[in-house]
Amino acid sequence: MSTMTIPVNDLKRYAAESAGSLTECAVEVLRSGHYVLGPWVNAFESTFADYCAVEHCISVANGTDALELALRAAGIVPGDAVVVAANAAMYGTTAVLAIGADPIFADVVEATALLTADTIRQAIGEATKAPRALIVTHLYGRLADMPEIIEVAKTAGMLLIEDCAQAHGAIGVDGRRAGAYGDIATFSFYPTKNLGALGDGGAVTTNDDCIADRVRKLRQYGWSSKYCNALEGGRNSRLDELQAAFLCRLLPDLERRNKRRREIANRYSLEIRNPGIATPPTAGAEYVAHLYVVTAVRRDALRAHLSSSGVGTDVQYPTPDYRQVMHGDRFARVFLPATEILCGQVLTLPCFPEMFDAEIDAVIAACNAWPG
Ligand SMILES: *Cc1c(COP(=O)(O)O)cnc(C)c1O
Repeated sequence: MSTMTIPVNDLKRYAAESAGSLTECAVEVLRSGHYVLGPWVNAFESTFADYCAVEHCISVANGTDALELALRAAGIVPGDAVVVAANAAMYGTTAVLAIGADPIFADVVEATALLTADTIRQAIGEATKAPRALIVTHLYGRLADMPEIIEVAKTAGMLLIEDCAQAHGAIGVDGRRAGAYGDIATFSFYPTKNLGALGDGGAVTTNDDCIADRVRKLRQYGWSSKYCNALEGGRNSRLDELQAAFLCRLLPDLERRNKRRREIANRYSLEIRNPGIATPPTAGAEYVAHLYVVTAVRRDALRAHLSSSGVGTDVQYPTPDYRQVMHGDRFARVFLPATEILCGQVLTLPCFPEMFDAEIDAVIAACNAWPG
């Protein structure tokens, strides 16, 4: 038995790598007297908008608020239907339900775990009302097929929201980054994300002036100016200066860290050779390897084997959104075959930029040693 324990992620290494400059950031914010929505927030918003090549970035408190405020800003109201995937940990569904809107669950394809134009069309065809919006999640850091999906959204008259919480920096074949395809895009800066703060954070990006203006108001009580509550559905969802300063400092590292993630993922895809384990294909810049996820029919046995070999794993994600306990029997008739199969077979292997080469070797060896 191996004595090495390889964590599925290790944020201590992430913070340690930049400890000096992050401490300088913290001291600067501490001395500044500005702690919420100040100069660092402005600087991060304009830098991140430039990075994504969009007009507007509006920071908020987290990625789930970003989704909800995006829907609200777009005018989605109770009773509206919104198409979502059911294999993305309830984030999109939570936002849709918070609005009082109805999720229309679309299946994904097994090979990528992503929505496609076909699965979206099928969900629309079976829905009892025409959906007003679509949330596409670039799951595990892999860009969905946006040109085709944009066409479907256009034809169906749906607003297109990209959930980029796992895909900061992913680049499509046409050179656009995640967040530059949809009418609106949302990001999370939760510490484990590809661009992670040292606390919670999120953002909405868009080229639409009106939607940007509405998100800016909604994140601060619906104020149009101080103490003037102009917009319904407002709340407090602001990014703080400390996190914004950290994000300004960490954004320049994103490309290098994404590259390292992809390098690890591509090594796994080439070197894990076990008939009982299906690996995703090697990939280019359209995949930023937020998570490296394999499938195995005997997933739980593989997980136990890896655990006894000192390899940490996770299951992302085990339960289709429509089967979560909170719904009661509201979605009892929903059954999406590929989503169900994936929930039973997915397994996340350690894949984070600060992994040591010896750890990558050990993960590959442990997978190849599984008798299946
Ligand atoms: C993490 C995540 C979110 C939610 O972000 P929070 O900041 O945790 O609220 C939304 N969508 C996806 C795909 C995520 O991975």
